[in-house]
Amino acid sequence: MKKKLWLIAIIGALTCYACQNKSTNQNMKIEKQSFGKLPDGQEVSLYTLKNQSGMELKISDYGGIIVSWTAPDKNGKFDDIVLGCDSLETYLKGVPYFGAIVGRYGNRIANGKFSLNGQEYTLAQNNGKNALHGGLKGFDKKIWAVTIVDGDEPTLKLSTTSADGEEGYPGKLEVEVTYTLQKDNSLKIDYQASTDKPTVLNLTNHSYFNLSGEADVLSHEVVLNAPKFLPVDETLIPTGELKEVKGTPFDFTTKHSIGERINDTTDTQIKFGGGYDHCWVINEKADKKLLLAATVHDPASGRLMEVLTTEPAMQFYTGNFLNGTIVGKKGVKYGKRSGFCIETQHYPDSPNKPDFPTTVLNPNEKYETTTIYKFSVK
Ligand code: BGC
Repeated sequence: MKKKLWLIAIIGALTCYACQNKSTNQNMKIEKQSFGKLPDGQEVSLYTLKNQSGMELKISDYGGIIVSWTAPDKNGKFDDIVLGCDSLETYLKGVPYFGAIVGRYGNRIANGKFSLNGQEYTLAQNNGKNALHGGLKGFDKKIWAVTIVDGDEPTLKLSTTSADGEEGYPGKLEVEVTYTLQKDNSLKIDYQASTDKPTVLNLTNHSYFNLSGEADVLSHEVVLNAPKFLPVDETLIPTGELKEVKGTPFDFTTKHSIGERINDTTDTQIKFGGGYDHCWVINEKADKKLLLAATVHDPASGRLMEVLTTEPAMQFYTGNFLNGTIVGKKGVKYGKRSGFCIETQHYPDSPNKPDFPTTVLNPNEKYETTTIYKFSVK
């Protein structure tokens, strides 16, 4: 009898040791290293998330930037599929939001002004006369507090407080962005926020993808599950119209390569965008259903990316403003159209467009959105 009890005790202890070891291994999936210092001396870190299949992401607490992200090709070879920089210094010199969390307001607000409940708010005009991506020091330039979340999928929770009046926006905002690297080679990004005064909010991630490692993304094949897009004026502010894509170079409801119609400057909208730099409408009802918004396939490598989101729209931007001046990872100069972005979000300039789905966040409401980028091969 005594022997039996001893045996149970030993087995119990061994199982417990195994559990602990397992959870240590799980935690070890996220490693932290230094990524340098800001000019004011603040330390910046880089976190490495890896899943069982070998997908690996490096995320910085500076701007929540996804610095690198590997995905396998059809032969199982992993390559980095996002644009980014090797050093913090290059990010600090100024890059167009590579991989960053964008906020408070993703994309443009006309003339850097909007009114809410009868009061006018003035923002920095940092893109011609318009406000772009949250202002001079947007969420892409903040150091976020980081929590490594326990669980069987590597999860990083980034949080920050944005003071009332920061960058001209009203309300003290508590924001959380959670990156979960899932087992099925997908990254889930959950955005949450709350405010103490009515405000406007439109968060997104600004990763530039290149699934091929080639100089440009023109041969990538795209399907956008969006029958309408938002035409813009010369300064890329939506006119207010929701236009059917049918019969235009904006029709990606069936597969087309990025390059096929991108230089069709007989189309005024292509001309204004210098290519694709527009908002496509995924869900006009804006009822927060998780929908498959986009599929991008690189025939050469076989890599396939699916984007699912609860957001009503996406900015499909084809890196038209990149011009080779930024030296990215491994010394590569990022030229025109060397990456594409699918920024899931609400429509640009919604605060000035009462007919667009609202981007107002009130106290006692919870801002909650989810976007998933899933990789496979075809
Ligand atoms: C905008 C582009 C801009 C890019 C980088 C995109 O969301 O629509 O016009 O150049 O971000 O800032």
